[in-house]
Amino acid sequence: MQTAVLFKTVSRHYGEVRAVDRVDLDVRAGEFFAMLGPSGSGKTTSLRLIAGFEQPTAGHIEIFGETAEGVPPYRRNVNTVFQDYALFPHMSVRDNVAYGLMIAGMGRRERHAKAEEALEMVRLPGYGDRRPSALSGGQRQRVALARALVNRPKVLLLDEPLGALDLKLREQMQEELKGLQRSLGITFIFVTHDQGEALSMADRVAVFSEGRIQQVGTPQDVYERPDTPFVADFVGSSNVLPPDLVRELTGLAVPASLRPEALRLVSGAEAASDPDASRLTATVTGLSYTGAVTRVQLGVRDLALSALIPAGQPVPRGGEQVGLSWDPASLHLMEAAR
Ligand code: ADP
Ligand code: MG
Repeated sequence: MQTAVLFKTVSRHYGEVRAVDRVDLDVRAGEFFAMLGPSGSGKTTSLRLIAGFEQPTAGHIEIFGETAEGVPPYRRNVNTVFQDYALFPHMSVRDNVAYGLMIAGMGRRERHAKAEEALEMVRLPGYGDRRPSALSGGQRQRVALARALVNRPKVLLLDEPLGALDLKLREQMQEELKGLQRSLGITFIFVTHDQGEALSMADRVAVFSEGRIQQVGTPQDVYERPDTPFVADFVGSSNVLPPDLVRELTGLAVPASLRPEALRLVSGAEAASDPDASRLTATVTGLSYTGAVTRVQLGVRDLALSALIPAGQPVPRGGEQVGLSWDPASLHLMEAAR
C-alpha cells in the first residue's frame, strides 16, 4: 500500500529536550492512524513536523513519496485541526471555513459554495452566517473540521480534537469522524492521550513515550500483545508482572502482562481443596464498583494487581485471601523496557 507519511529516524530536539527522538513511522494512504501517549510524549511535535510548522533537527520526512524538507506548510497538501480549534472570532462560520480558499485566491462565489459543501459534510448546513461565539463547543469543533477539509487535503492531522467535549458528544463525534474518514478516503492522523479513543477509532496505533515510539500496531496488537511494560500499562492499565515472578511461573525471566479481565478469583476454600486451582495467592486490598464491572485491587507479595469482575458475579470482601488463576495463553511475555 502507498505510504502517506514516512519518518526516517526523525528527531526534533529543543536543547536538552528530546521532544521527538529517532522516530521511524510509516503511515499508509487512506489509513486512520492514531498517535497515543501521555502528555509531553511528543505527539504534537510529530504532527507539527508533518504539517511543516517545525523542522526536524535530524532525519528525513516524506509525504506521499516527496521529500518534505523545504516545503512550506501551505504546499504540503496537509491540514490540521488544532486542539483549541483556532477559529477567527470576528469572522462568520462561512468565512472561517473558506479562509484558506480566499488566501489561495479563489473567487467569492466558488469558495462560498465549497464552504457550504464542507459544512454539509460535518452536518452544519446553513450555519454559514453565524459567528463562532454563537455555536456550542461541539459545533465549533465541526467548523474547525470543515475548514480543514474544505480543500480536500490528502492528509488530515487532528490534535486531540475531541478533548474539550463532554463524554456523550465525544462518543458521537468519534463515530462521525470515523465515518467521514471512510467516506472521504483521506489519511487521518489522530492524536490523543485517551487509549479507549485510540483503540476504538484507529486502524493502527503508535504508542509514544518520551519522544520515542514504543510500538506500532493494530488496536488488538497493542492491547493484547504489548511489546513493552509501558505499552501494557498505558494501553488499558494491564497488570505488569516483573521478571522474577514470571520466572517462577514460566521459567523465563522477562516481564509479562496480564489483563485485569483475564484474572479469575478463586475462593480460599476452593484453593485449599484443589492446589491446582490457583497459581498465586493474593489479598483483596480494595474494591471499586463502577456499574458494569467491579475493579478488585489485589496485593500479591509487594505487587499491586487488579482484576475485573462482571456485574452479577460474586465479589470478595476487603482483606480476604483469594487465589488467582488465568488461562496460560493470556499471560503475555514482553521485552524489557525500550
Ligand atoms: P504531547 O503533544 O505528546 O503532549 P509535545 O510534542 O507537545 O507533547 O511535547 C514534547 C516535549 O517537547 C515536551 O517535553 C515539551 O515540553 C517539549 N517541547 C515542545 N515544544 C517545545 C518548544 N517549542 N520548546 C521547548 N520544548 C518544547
Ligand atoms: Mg499535544
